[in-house]
Amino acid sequence: MHYGVLRDADGRLIDRAMATVLRAPRTFTGEDTVEFSCHGGLVILRETLAALLEAGASAAEPGEFTKTAYLNGKLDLAESESIIDLITAPGRLAAEAALTASGGGLSARIAQSRQKLVELLAHILAYVDYTDEGIVRLEEEELASSLRAVREELAALIATYPLGRAAREGVRTVLCGRPNAGKSSVMNLLAGYERSIVTDIEGTTRDVVTDTVEVAGIPLLLSDTAGLRRPGDRVEELGVARAREEIAAAELALCVFDAARPLCGEDRELIAAAKGRPAVAILNKSDLPPVLDKGDLADFAHVVTLSAKTGEGLADLTAAIQELVAGGVAPDGAVLVTNLRQLDCLKRARAALDRAVASLEEGAFSDLAEIDITDAVNALGELTGETASESVIADIFSRFCVGK
Ligand code: GDP
Repeated sequence: MHYGVLRDADGRLIDRAMATVLRAPRTFTGEDTVEFSCHGGLVILRETLAALLEAGASAAEPGEFTKTAYLNGKLDLAESESIIDLITAPGRLAAEAALTASGGGLSARIAQSRQKLVELLAHILAYVDYTDEGIVRLEEEELASSLRAVREELAALIATYPLGRAAREGVRTVLCGRPNAGKSSVMNLLAGYERSIVTDIEGTTRDVVTDTVEVAGIPLLLSDTAGLRRPGDRVEELGVARAREEIAAAELALCVFDAARPLCGEDRELIAAAKGRPAVAILNKSDLPPVLDKGDLADFAHVVTLSAKTGEGLADLTAAIQELVAGGVAPDGAVLVTNLRQLDCLKRARAALDRAVASLEEGAFSDLAEIDITDAVNALGELTGETASESVIADIFSRFCVGK
């Protein structure tokens, strides 16, 4: 790191700055790199950039920095993609998954499966080409069982996608329940600050208030609705209709019930509306003498007892939400498939292995599985970039912003 002065082509002083010289190949891109650390401020930044461009530098295209690293073999394609995922991660879980992937966590798992397939392929081909040279033929049953093991591994990765997608894109969540059940209070508890107006007057939450809260690292895109109450006036009417729509459109419904009051018609309506939907029943106001029984909510797979006032039961609510959103899949060492392109590669690889296993089970000889195994190897190679086409690569790096 050198201390010195930055001057433009005419010798005019721009700034006193530090220059860090990084020698190839031990740099991010794999090329020689110089980084200037200037004083902040728009003028100095603009003039430094102009001087560098005049001296022969060229401005990087979006993603060019990471693309150079990829082309120089410093990162594979999945690792490169995870850098943009890291920058744009909307919550902690997505950021964790991207960090793991950018450190090669996902690529290592893919490479392992791919390597196993390549070895099987090599064995099949060696037997076909050099039958006389003492190479033992791979028995069909043995080959099928090796392929099944790789297929399981791919299936396990594919199964992380619902959680990965939720972490990346957020979960459309609706908060519903009769007026005064405590919807706004639950929302504030989840958000950790006063977002909706909490009042004693029934029916004050008339509009759909949207907010994003993070639960277990997953962004929930919350709407707080007017509930399912029979309309009392025009404004309420609109709110009620919208609440029903919201439940039908939501990926997750948090249904709030007042534990201190008996079940009413509106509660029953809500129970009916939530039936068969991914929903958590929240038995709220557990700090008050209980009137409503958990048994009344037996239609819900998840019932959580909560006091939005004291916060007691929040951990149970978090756990129930996590389980519903993740579909019972726990992130496996934070390796999470969050990306549709990667999911597609994995699915194609698995389908190719399905075909190979099926034909072996139907009595085909080992060497007939070669085409399908090759397809699987290529699909996995596409994921990490070994066999990805130019257009796929161009598309990925075009999603980056300038300077990354
Ligand atoms: P909403 O109409 O469903 O949004 O209900 P609010 O969140 O506005 O709450 C209605 C009333 O119930 C307010 O007076 C809250 O303070 C009260 N409340 C909400 N949650 C609890 C709770 O867990 N315990 C108690 N004791 N009161 C609560």
